[in-house]
Amino acid sequence: MIKLNTNENPYPPSPTVIEALQRAANESLRLYPDPEGKALKQTIADMYGLTQDNVFLGNGSDEVLAHTFLGLLTHELPILFPDVTYSFYPVYCALYDIQYQTVPLDEDFQVNIEEYAQPNGGIVLANPNAPTGSAINVENLRRLIDHSRNSVVVVDEAYVDFGAESAIHLVKEFPNLLVVQTLSKSRSLAGLRVGFAIGNTCLIEALNLVKNCFNSYPLGRLALAGAEASLRDTEYFERTRHLIIQNRDLLAEELAALGFYVVPSKANFLFVRHVSYGAREIQQQLRQRKIVVRHFPHPRTVDFLRISIGTPEECAELIKALREILS
Ligand code: PMP
Repeated sequence: MIKLNTNENPYPPSPTVIEALQRAANESLRLYPDPEGKALKQTIADMYGLTQDNVFLGNGSDEVLAHTFLGLLTHELPILFPDVTYSFYPVYCALYDIQYQTVPLDEDFQVNIEEYAQPNGGIVLANPNAPTGSAINVENLRRLIDHSRNSVVVVDEAYVDFGAESAIHLVKEFPNLLVVQTLSKSRSLAGLRVGFAIGNTCLIEALNLVKNCFNSYPLGRLALAGAEASLRDTEYFERTRHLIIQNRDLLAEELAALGFYVVPSKANFLFVRHVSYGAREIQQQLRQRKIVVRHFPHPRTVDFLRISIGTPEECAELIKALREILS
């Protein structure tokens, strides 16, 4: 099975992560972990010239986002996010009874910044967006945040390391900005479940209040040790993320040559539509050849497939299968 449906990283985690996990797998597991995760917070804070009080940790960024919706986005005015974006946002709204309004992406699936300059209870943007892979440039984001200084702007940077620009440096300037990242994608640690948020100390304090109502010890000893080792291995991180960017750009060219329209992507996946074949049909035919890709049956995305970037060998298998299907 070639699994290109959940945007996992095709490369293994850094070997230093495996060593750190092995070292941490000892008798101290009988003890609770540090409830603050101070060492990991400090490592993250040092990466961006911030302090531990600017960092919030969670079991994957999904958990960080869940606490964010409950702790920072429950207001009278509706929150805003794009009509085509990460499918969990409306789920959190439904769970926490948060009113929301979707703002249509333009016909090229780009965020129209001006349309967010309206009264709102908060704004949530994935940058790069999922499932489209499109990125917003940070100057545009700055304008958007500047317009909405009275509400919290959440930038979900799950895929930022594959070519987009992070907004973390704006955190010192804008107390209403919360940036959420994950180790699941560019750090190959989807199975360890580590995500974090960076923001003004007031936002982080509010998130901690919510988190402490659910779980005092969000990250286990192994997750803390593995995440720290991963963030310290910059050389491995740089090498593997550049490999994925290379694989993506090559795959985009090959798909275009097969008659696919490919949305320009800054993520570890491509969002593509074939000029004449239906997305669902291609997905099913790929599945028969043991290649799994994702289809979103939303009216605006029904013609598209989202394909996660694999190794060069996996991408070559995909192209071979598509050639057969399309012939
Ligand atoms: N945000 C976006 C935009 C995603 O696509 C995902 C992954 N499905 C997440 C957040 C959550 O990732 P994780 O919980 O593994 O950190």
